[in-house]
Amino acid sequence: MAQSPVPPAAAPRRFRPATEVVHGGTLRSQFSETSESLFLTQGFVYPTAEAAEARFKGDDPGFIYSRFSNPTVAMFEERMARLEGAEDARATASGMAAVTAALFCMLKAGDHVVAPRAMFGSCLYVIEELLPRYGVASTLIDGKDLDQWRAAVQPNTRAFFLETPTNPTLEIVDIAGVAAIAKASGITTIVDNVFATALHQSPLELGADVVVYSATKHIDGQGRCLGGVILSSKQWIADHLHNYLRQTGPSLSPFNAWVLLKALETFPLRVERQTASAARLADHLAGTPGIARLIYPGRADHPQAALVKRQMRAGSTLIAFEFTGGKAAAFAFSNALELVKISNNLGDAKSLITHPSTTTHQRLTPEAQAALGINAGLLRLSVGLEDVEDLIEDIDRGLAAAAAVSPASADAAA
Ligand SMILES: *Cc1c(COP(=O)(O)O)cnc(C)c1O
Repeated sequence: MAQSPVPPAAAPRRFRPATEVVHGGTLRSQFSETSESLFLTQGFVYPTAEAAEARFKGDDPGFIYSRFSNPTVAMFEERMARLEGAEDARATASGMAAVTAALFCMLKAGDHVVAPRAMFGSCLYVIEELLPRYGVASTLIDGKDLDQWRAAVQPNTRAFFLETPTNPTLEIVDIAGVAAIAKASGITTIVDNVFATALHQSPLELGADVVVYSATKHIDGQGRCLGGVILSSKQWIADHLHNYLRQTGPSLSPFNAWVLLKALETFPLRVERQTASAARLADHLAGTPGIARLIYPGRADHPQAALVKRQMRAGSTLIAFEFTGGKAAAFAFSNALELVKISNNLGDAKSLITHPSTTTHQRLTPEAQAALGINAGLLRLSVGLEDVEDLIEDIDRGLAAAAAVSPASADAAA
């Protein structure tokens, strides 16, 4: 190698984020390639036994084994750290591997976690069902209410976990408010920033300690591979995460890291465009007869618009809306779409529609769904990269089909 094989451990941003996602973290081999290389290798060889010894002792910072680190994965981690403005980052095989690792690496039996009830289903499983098996208790609250965060704190509370905007009703949790309560009691705040994206929300600047992403969503943004990333201070990663990841091995494949690394180059362009289209579609849907509730964080009529303004730079790429005609209208709408696909994913180049009560949230009881604001008429739309005029025409096809379902019979069907 013509230059050091290891990137400077998360160097501070030199350029603006849109530039860092193109160049940040690039490592070039002796061939001086333009596009980043895919190092599809499990291990690394050493010129001498002494070199191997130095590598293992940490005197030489090169690579040892791809469960620990890999050049392509390291490029992705460094680029993510620069995008987020974080000191350091570690990649994982999926978003859930990132969430699980961020919690398990710092918790032990006897600890306590506080989290909102409104949360991505698998995150709820980890906190409500898995952690208690290992002696970590949890309290679930209404995350919008700062008093409930305060009241839930116990002497053994170690972590606050939250996502905002929430899935699927796009409620907002006050990151700065929650982080201030946490700081006062030495509690670590972990934010799942998937829905807002790094482009529109910076939890670390608002006082959070750790940010996690499912890179499967907007970071890939083209529906190809799973991935996750955890970002924090060098200190937190060294103290909690570094050894946990090396020894338990939820490692990101170098191939997937390469896809995600290249995807980052267009991440700001894609998310900006998807956000602009989401804002257009939200305005188009608002006030449509038959839609009882339209929720888009970028609109002035969002119930927490002032808080959105304080912590988000834009409304992001998801819209939720509820038909008065219940399930029949929601299904008629979804089935009439030609362009927008029925899928439970989000953040994709392709626009996707989801009916949470029968898919992502179907394991919840009707009462639990109702408590989260999910009813049979609710749909979640993830806005993609198609021409917005084509999307509007597609939405209009759906609206016509929903209107054809008589509200009376639709209510009965729901
Ligand atoms: C998708 C998602 C996850 C899980 O990510 P995977 O890559 O599917 O494991 C976690 N949190 C949120 C908010 C998500 O949207």
